[in-house]
Amino acid sequence: GGTIGMVGGGQLGRMFAIAATQMGYQVVVFCETEQEPAAQIAHRCVFGRLNNMDAVEAFANQCDVITLEFENIPEATIAKCQQYAPTYPSSDVLATAQDRLREKNTIQDAGLPVAPFCRVVDAATLATAAEAVGLPLILKTARSGYDGKGQHRITTLADADHVAWSMCDEWVAEQLISFDREVSVVVARTADGRTSTFPIFENDHVNHILDVTMLPATLSDSVQKQAREIAITAAKALDVVGLLCVEMFVRPSADGSEEVIINEVAPRPHNSGHLTIEACHTSQFEQHVRAVCGLPLGNTEMICGGAAMANLLGDVWGDETKTPPWDNALAVDGVKLHLYGKVHAKPGRKMGHLTCVGNDRDAVVAKVREARSRLTR
Ligand code: ATP
Ligand code: MG
Ligand code: MG
Repeated sequence: GGTIGMVGGGQLGRMFAIAATQMGYQVVVFCETEQEPAAQIAHRCVFGRLNNMDAVEAFANQCDVITLEFENIPEATIAKCQQYAPTYPSSDVLATAQDRLREKNTIQDAGLPVAPFCRVVDAATLATAAEAVGLPLILKTARSGYDGKGQHRITTLADADHVAWSMCDEWVAEQLISFDREVSVVVARTADGRTSTFPIFENDHVNHILDVTMLPATLSDSVQKQAREIAITAAKALDVVGLLCVEMFVRPSADGSEEVIINEVAPRPHNSGHLTIEACHTSQFEQHVRAVCGLPLGNTEMICGGAAMANLLGDVWGDETKTPPWDNALAVDGVKLHLYGKVHAKPGRKMGHLTCVGNDRDAVVAKVREARSRLTR
């Protein structure tokens, strides 16, 4: 037992709270409004702006251990939490994960593969960066970006005319990687240094947003082993306690096989790990509870031959006054529905997901896609 504090009220906090509650913990959520997904199911909530230090204190006071579910939390808030209870990930980890430059430097310094990158502040430094990393490149804001927001593909330097340089002090120019597939590895790490990785997730993105995740990934055993080792090394280098998701590109290597390159990391449960709820002995959310509470880490092996997850974005709702025909999707054998309780459906907003597990990956991928398409037919 005991009380776990969760900073942030989104769906990751909600699914964490469900897992923690099942294991007998009380969960206190700190977020802005009672409408947020995690607030709806928490034992207790503290509502306030995340930078309001009185609210932070009122929250942290109640907790035996504190964790979080998104990166854009003021560093000072997490630093304050740390004065009251062990807080995982720490304010240091958060500061690194909030800043793509600091994150990439840390990963590179650990000897791990990342796409060549440069710090950019304006059109002139972009021109220098283009010589270093080549064109086309991807220009990303150093801070606050998610779901591809704030990213530009720069094919010729004239494309920089469309960049709103004033929106951000620092940017990262990254070499455009021509990858075959994208994968992610979720690794759990405890305060005493134990680690455990999940099987590698294979991810399809649409418009820079995760669309479908599949298990197992179509990767050779040796590349899978390499990807898991990279994730563990990254978790150690960043000194993460809790979960770290490492997003990777898979591309052909010089020796004719394949290699992985790190795209970015997230020190929390990850959208690509949602299918672990049905697909693995231990879900990513249970593993997060185990890791931050210092418990033995759970078995991450698959309990099925194949698994698939399809995101449900607000677009599925179309007209916000209508509810999608859930019964149509649930009529597909084996398909499970997860809804996050978000009050307003907006295009591109993550509202829920569908999961299916079975013996064969291709079959379950087809089922979640079919179930989702029935929602808009
Ligand atoms: P999120 O945090 O929601 O995953 P984000 O805004 O931080 O998104 P990234 O993960 O950096 O964005 O990029 C989003 C997607 O854009 C990647 O998953 C990949 O499909 C593509 N992308 C990003 N960087 C590169 C690159 N250097 N080369 C090729 N494709 C890229
Ligand atoms: Mg990101
Ligand atoms: Mg990403």
